[in-house]
Amino acid sequence: MDRPVNLSQRAADGAAFARIIAAESEQDVRRCYQCGKCTAGCPVAFAGDVMPHQVMRFLQLGMKEDALGNRMIWLCSTCSTCTTRCPCGIDLARVMDCLRIAAREEGRTAAGREVALFNRTFLDSVRRFGRAHEASLAALLNLKGGRPLKDIDLGIKFLARGKLKLAPTRAGRGAVARLFAASRREEAGG
Ligand code: SF4
Ligand code: SF4
Repeated sequence: MDRPVNLSQRAADGAAFARIIAAESEQDVRRCYQCGKCTAGCPVAFAGDVMPHQVMRFLQLGMKEDALGNRMIWLCSTCSTCTTRCPCGIDLARVMDCLRIAAREEGRTAAGREVALFNRTFLDSVRRFGRAHEASLAALLNLKGGRPLKDIDLGIKFLARGKLKLAPTRAGRGAVARLFAASRREEAGG
């Protein structure tokens, strides 16, 4: 998941782009000191190609291509966990929103098949267990994506350190089922 930052990739208009995102989101991205608390709490970071704190770093360095050309901004569910955890008070969820808007305006189609597949599988996991079960979610995504052994070494490390649970918890399943039922009723117009 970790990816080195290549400073030579800095886009010529990157600094101006970062200023626009900072103005649109009303967030001072320069204040981010890369503590990683946003990433540690992000429920979809495990599926990202870059991590939320890296997106902030791209903006600080004016790396427009990296800030707009990653999958993370599309995976972001706007849950605002990062925002509530940030010790600098940065509303990272809002920054992500602005990046998605900018990416759409440039006609980028990063949302694509992979992210749509993730969204469907993630919601199905929440519906079944009351919250996302990361181990089965990652396994299903790999299977559906045709790469069953993708990141298997990482998964084994996470399991060994207790970062991934094999058995899903089912806490809150009833309440979540009621939310899904209400959503279906609303979609049906009633
Ligand atoms: S929690 Fe805030 S300060 Fe820490 S890396 Fe994330 S955005 Fe930066
Ligand atoms: S708002 Fe997006 S980036 Fe922030 S914790 Fe939630 S999913 Fe992750």
